[in-house]
Amino acid sequence: MAEVTVRNVKKRYGNVQVMHGVSVDIEDGQFVVLVGPSGCGKSTLLRMIAGLEPISDGEISIGGRVVNNVMPKDRDIAMVFQSYALYPHKTVGENMGFALKIKGTPRAEIDAKVAKAAAILDLGHLLDRYPKQLSGGQRQRVAMGRAIVRDPAVFLFDEPLSNLDAKLRVAMRVEIKELHQRLKTTIVYVTHDQIEAMTMADKIVVMRDGRVEQIGAPLDLYDNP
Ligand code: ADP
Ligand code: ADP
Repeated sequence: MAEVTVRNVKKRYGNVQVMHGVSVDIEDGQFVVLVGPSGCGKSTLLRMIAGLEPISDGEISIGGRVVNNVMPKDRDIAMVFQSYALYPHKTVGENMGFALKIKGTPRAEIDAKVAKAAAILDLGHLLDRYPKQLSGGQRQRVAMGRAIVRDPAVFLFDEPLSNLDAKLRVAMRVEIKELHQRLKTTIVYVTHDQIEAMTMADKIVVMRDGRVEQIGAPLDLYDNP
């Protein structure tokens, strides 16, 4: 587990400044949702926490360590993308174990971790299938499984449910909440869906035009708009 601290972070693309001094404190084990209109900077902030996007100014810490110059693979995080980003020519099991394989983790340990994650996500019977043989919800679970096997302190979710139909989205919301309660990890979760934010977050960060507009618990925010 780990806290995440974003301190006065700015971001420029060329001459265009898209983030103007964003600060957010995320406590150990908290489920924090970043919301706000398209283009407000949610994905950019998430990608900066992941290390996929360099920050122009300010500081980001994970678990008390400044990570500004730390490669994504050396941060204690795992990211789940909207597009799932599964390898089409690898099975479910291979997709889930791949990051560990690259790290040189022994085969027996990979198998054990994949089996454990598959049990949590109800994927045990699908380990030999290929992504194209799965439903949208199953693909989403594989993407989460791939993150879980790495046992990160912080999970980063980038609009993970936006490719799913409405009914499945509601079911997956509950699943992700349960996963959080079970693993007790820190989660930073980007969505443009206010209901998702309301139902899932311990704390909501409302962004607008590259700034933090409001931060608070769901009821505090939406009782006093
Ligand atoms: P959100 O996730 O809230 O929709 P983004 O973080 O994707 O917003 O984008 C924030 C702002 O940064 C937008 O104005 C977007 O156009 C701009 N932006 C994002 N990525 C790039 C990029 N690679 N180059 C230039 N501008 C970018
Ligand atoms: P989403 O809103 O689903 O997060 P976007 O369509 O905003 O995705 O962005 C997709 C990719 O394009 C991201 O990698 C983002 O950094 C990049 N991007 C977004 N806006 C711009 C922009 N104005 N110029 C260049 N790249 C951009």
